[in-house]
Amino acid sequence: MKELHTFGWYAARISPLLPKEAFKPVPSRLLGGLAYLVVTLSAIIVIGVTDLPFWLNTMLAIVIGSGFAGMSFLGHEILHGTVVRNPILKDFFGGMAFWSFCIGPKLWRKWHNLTHHVHTQHRDKDPDTWSHADSIQESPLKRLFFVLPKFVRNTIYFFFLMINFTFHSTNMFFKFIKEFNPKKQPVVTLEFLLPTISWIGLLLAIGFEKWIFAYIIPMLIANFILSSYIATNHNLNPQTDINDPLANSLSVTVPKFIDVLHFNFSYHTEHHIFPGMNPKFYPMVKKKILEMWPERYHEMPMEKAMIALFITPRVYYTKEELIDMQLGDVYDSLGTGLDPNHIISKRKEDLTEVSINKEVSKN
Ligand SMILES: [Zn+2]
Repeated sequence: MKELHTFGWYAARISPLLPKEAFKPVPSRLLGGLAYLVVTLSAIIVIGVTDLPFWLNTMLAIVIGSGFAGMSFLGHEILHGTVVRNPILKDFFGGMAFWSFCIGPKLWRKWHNLTHHVHTQHRDKDPDTWSHADSIQESPLKRLFFVLPKFVRNTIYFFFLMINFTFHSTNMFFKFIKEFNPKKQPVVTLEFLLPTISWIGLLLAIGFEKWIFAYIIPMLIANFILSSYIATNHNLNPQTDINDPLANSLSVTVPKFIDVLHFNFSYHTEHHIFPGMNPKFYPMVKKKILEMWPERYHEMPMEKAMIALFITPRVYYTKEELIDMQLGDVYDSLGTGLDPNHIISKRKEDLTEVSINKEVSKN
């Protein structure tokens, strides 16, 4: 792999070339959130108070799911401080925006801002990076999954994207709650419980059948939208000890209107260099990266990245290689040899030889 640099190293070289305006909070971005809120709440109310045919309820579920996802992208931004600076307002709007996923603002900042962003793709420190071969070998339960044929495993993985973010964020609550100051723990717990209670309250108010359309199907859709970005943004890249966004992140390209709906979340490498920047300026950052380090930058159409995720395994063998834990097929990661136009396994490992800590000696 090329010599790595921290995100601060890149930021120091790009920021003098950007307008000061790029680093100012933009409260008007809340209007997008308000639009999502009105549409989403209206759709939930319509499902609750009317008896619509199946297909109309399904259409409304798609609208609600897209709204949940859109608001979560905005919540991510708000809690990075790009919308308002006042800490109380930041927590309030951030909590509202993540209400569907029951993610409290304090948990999110600890997990995402202070851990994922600081230690992106670090094998042991990033809670969002994928498993490595050792952890599979050590767990009989995880090993059981690899008895299944590759196509079945990959299909399960894609269906898992429909619950992935809910599953992971709930895990993160139980992982991080212990790390909060005991005095803060009740507030963090309340930020998780309040939205949870509200969604159970909705179930009691409108009944199970309508709740499926008002909450469950929308959550499957929102999970899939968010997870499509989350998975493609880092999981094809190598794990890195130095947090180099050009090595460990991938920017995906999507149609312009999707970028508008998702607040430019596709510019993920840019986001990891400047997490506190107004995303409107990410295309400008991309231009600068392409001028200065074109050979290091990774970008791919979203659909191509999803196909690459389907073909490659989701277990790291070394920090730069992925391995199929049933077949032993080893694949390169992005920037270390993986060609998204022609994905092939570069060699086969004898899995009985995959010993604990092998990758430590390899790197
Ligand atoms: Zn972020």
